[in-house]
Amino acid sequence: MRILRYWSVTHADKLLRIYRKLEYVMLKLDPLFQRLGYRRIEKPMALVESAVKKTLFDCQMCGQCVLSSTGMACPMNCPKQLRNGPCGGVRSNGHCEVKPGMRCVWLEAIRGSEIMKQETSMGYRQLPLNHSIKGHSSWLQAVKTRAREKS
Ligand code: SF4
Repeated sequence: MRILRYWSVTHADKLLRIYRKLEYVMLKLDPLFQRLGYRRIEKPMALVESAVKKTLFDCQMCGQCVLSSTGMACPMNCPKQLRNGPCGGVRSNGHCEVKPGMRCVWLEAIRGSEIMKQETSMGYRQLPLNHSIKGHSSWLQAVKTRAREKS
């Protein structure tokens, strides 16, 4: 829902803090996740993640979440699914040329990043989307990667 999506951007700093806490707790749970098997918990975790993120961000479960570098504005809501910044079609009122009733996702990303007091990912290139992981849990992937980096 677009109103909730805008709300999430307005509260991007608080949501980032909540995510960092969630990530901290999930990192602590890594040994348990390993015992249970990451593959086994993938599906239930993806269901929870999808429910939370679809509500707050209109998430499409791309599997490669970039919310923390796009001011909590999901770039998959751009009709062109641009993940590295806006196209040249942003209208003078800040709206999208494809969906004139919607503010440009990337203007929202800039707004959210200012609230988070950090730069958007526009300064660097996002990796191309790996479509084979669509629908998978980005949370679990992030925890798995961070846990391996620490060990
Ligand atoms: S970047 Fe991907 S995982 Fe993150 S909110 Fe958007 S669709 Fe969902």
